[in-house]
Amino acid sequence: MALFLAYDPGYTLNFSEHVFPVRKYELIAAELIKRGVVGERDFLKPDPATDEQLLLAHTPEFLERLRRYAGTNPMAALHELEAPCYPETLVAKRFMTGGSILVTEKAIEAKGCGVNIGGGFHHAEADRGGGFCFLNDIVISIRVAQKKGFIRRALVIDTDVHQGNGTASIVLDDTTIRLLDIHQRDNYPTKVPAELNIGLEDGCGDREYIEGLKAGIEKVIGEHGPFDLIHYVAGADPWKDDKLGGLKLSMDGFRARDRLLIVTAKKLSVPLIVTLAGGYAQRTADTVNIHAQMVEEMIAVYGKK
Ligand SMILES: [Zn+2]
Repeated sequence: MALFLAYDPGYTLNFSEHVFPVRKYELIAAELIKRGVVGERDFLKPDPATDEQLLLAHTPEFLERLRRYAGTNPMAALHELEAPCYPETLVAKRFMTGGSILVTEKAIEAKGCGVNIGGGFHHAEADRGGGFCFLNDIVISIRVAQKKGFIRRALVIDTDVHQGNGTASIVLDDTTIRLLDIHQRDNYPTKVPAELNIGLEDGCGDREYIEGLKAGIEKVIGEHGPFDLIHYVAGADPWKDDKLGGLKLSMDGFRARDRLLIVTAKKLSVPLIVTLAGGYAQRTADTVNIHAQMVEEMIAVYGKK
């Protein structure tokens, strides 16, 4: 068993004034080092994803449009992506996609766990972005692994407070990738059918959330398993003080969620991949802590590589 972490300073997004905490990636990496959980050298440095890899989930027209935003008018991307698309932003997104690809391959090879301190951009569809998401690193990383023959079927468990509409739409007709999505029902975005959508009511707390997720996991695996990989989209925005979410998870609730995913992957002996997705806590330190304690939980079970 082993855990692989990917992070690169190139992940930092330059959205300037934005609700997205653009420095969260470097803050999480620094927090993990400060806590003595990892050393600087424990982070694997990814290569940016190639066009060939991006095309496994996106259309050439969409990639061309992203390049056009970056090359001519970054602010014109706001109406589609709800974030500006500077040339550096696009590079950062490619790096993070590369991180998801890297930890997926490493974790499969070692039958362990991989955490990308980035990624989880689940609102990106095949031919358009949205909700700060440009490139769907979740689907891309799974399809790279499938193409190389490392895995056949994957289960995405998306726990961000917002539904992963991009992932759902891309894999709608792809029976090799199934999606279990637990989210706040009355929130962004317009929901897209998935293998199992669990829409929670406003104000839902730890107990209901964990019980719903547990039952959902059992159902989707029982009905649609077996899977060769679980990709856990570990959004921090079900947090009780989140600016863009209306659920009420506590820190203990997040820890219970992490443990549930770890126990599930271990029981099935399948590699577990984690990407971060959203998190808009009133205090960025809370978003950082939610992700840092997730890595602590992973290390407690899987150890370091
Ligand atoms: Zn979200």
